[in-house]
Amino acid sequence: MSVSLWRRASEPERLECDVCVVGGGICGLSAALELERGGQRVILVEAGEVGAGASGRNAGYLIRGAADNYAQACRVFGRARAGMLWRWTEANLTALRDEGVEALPGFAMRPSCLIALGGEEEEQLRQSIQLLHEDGFEAALLESDQGADDALWQSGKVRAGLVNPGDAVCSPIELVRMLRDKLDSTRVITGQEAHSIVGEARWIVVGCSDIRVQCERVFIALNAYAPSLVPSLRSVVRARRGQMLAARPLDEGVRLDMAYYANHGSEYLRSGPDGTIVFGGARTSFVEQEVGCDPDITPEVQDRIESFMRELVTDRYEVVARWAGTMGFSADGLPLVGAVDVDGVEPGRVWFCGGFTGHGMSMAFTTARAAVGEMLGGKATPFPIGREMPEACVE
Ligand SMILES: Cc1cc2nc3c(=O)[nH]c(=O)nc-3n(C[C@H](O)[C@H](O)[C@H](O)COP(=O)(O)OP(=O)(O)OC[C@H]3O[C@@H](n4cnc5c(N)ncnc54)[C@H](O)[C@@H]3O)c2cc1C
Repeated sequence: MSVSLWRRASEPERLECDVCVVGGGICGLSAALELERGGQRVILVEAGEVGAGASGRNAGYLIRGAADNYAQACRVFGRARAGMLWRWTEANLTALRDEGVEALPGFAMRPSCLIALGGEEEEQLRQSIQLLHEDGFEAALLESDQGADDALWQSGKVRAGLVNPGDAVCSPIELVRMLRDKLDSTRVITGQEAHSIVGEARWIVVGCSDIRVQCERVFIALNAYAPSLVPSLRSVVRARRGQMLAARPLDEGVRLDMAYYANHGSEYLRSGPDGTIVFGGARTSFVEQEVGCDPDITPEVQDRIESFMRELVTDRYEVVARWAGTMGFSADGLPLVGAVDVDGVEPGRVWFCGGFTGHGMSMAFTTARAAVGEMLGGKATPFPIGREMPEACVE
């Protein structure tokens, strides 16, 4: 996005704090909470409302690991790093439970299940279960005749499934609002799009539509939108569109007992509120098209999701909602944390945390907390922006 000359107030109100957090999604809210608990005076600015970006538009999976299976993650990241990521995401859910996420109406402990529809993925799930057990993770492999008594397994298409028993689902908007409501001293200012970061004497000044925030440090939590504020981030975080729909089956009893991923995480489907099935994905069939920050749905992707719906769940349904959101992908699929250079600002005072590659609900709370710790001088996170990327990348 960008802010026109006409929308910039000629004499913007000037506010002061220690840290200005830019972006009111799960990352920015988690960072703000951590900062205020550490005694920092925080102002959070958000262009729309809290959860306006991907954090209010996702599938609400709170899963261990990434969408693709553990064997594949070990191949891409190396085994030690894959294990670290699996533990990191487990810790994310534990930390959210400590914050009280279980009290939210849309929250449920619900196992996730990676299903294999083809032989190659089935083989990888078999390798994964062995690797997971060797590395001390609880998981189970279901054969085609051992699955749940639900619509997906009854479709007869599933060759095997890998179950992560400790996972959960939530209403993502409830989760971000819960984090917002936990903020005490932080001032959350919505409807303020940040358009500039400049150094002014000892201050950094974040220019927004109607206000200017002068601060000691800036924490950028814009994920996919970050390059519009800090162009150098264009080379590390890429905007990718994800589309979803919610459909109400017309027949009684059509439900999904687990939160499913299919086709290496490309498609995802679970039971949602009021008897709906929420279904997302199909972007890997339209990789060239599903780029950038345009939040509109497209008929091609929506049709493809519906064809998966007919194949895997039921052909008798009515669609009750369709939507899209913008994800920030890193080159290797791991989050990115670090200081970024901004002209005229002393190095080390502007930080970025993002690049969650479609898994921010499952990792942003712990990652933002760790990023704040690193920014304020603590222990380094395992996700430096300048790390070497492996050859096999996530798309
Ligand atoms: C369809 C879809 C399904 C997904 N499913 C899952 C899932 O099931 N589980 C999971 O873990 N992850 C999922 N994700 C990914 C997850 O939603 C994201 O990784 C996560 O929400 C990123 O959070 P964030 O706070 O970094 O970014 P965002 O939520 O995108 O927040 C960025 C905020 O910055 C604001 N903003 C933009 N520009 C400016 C500016 N200049 N000034 C001020 N504010 C600005 C935006 O309005 C937005 O609110 C999904 C994503 C999509 C799109």
